[in-house]
Amino acid sequence: MEKCIVCDEAQKYGIHLYTSFICTDCEKAMINTDPTDPTYKYFINQLKVVTESKIMS
Ligand SMILES: [Zn+2]
Repeated sequence: MEKCIVCDEAQKYGIHLYTSFICTDCEKAMINTDPTDPTYKYFINQLKVVTESKIMS
């Protein structure tokens, strides 16, 4: 079980992005979200945090 960076919950299935984990549900939600949807912006923000923390470490 790993903690998803998007929903912040421990999930069994998902993908790894850099050093972080995104659960299958969030991955699907992300793919199906329209870029004009505010939710999409939230996803991008979460990913930005991940990539930025990777650069800084
Ligand atoms: Zn999730």
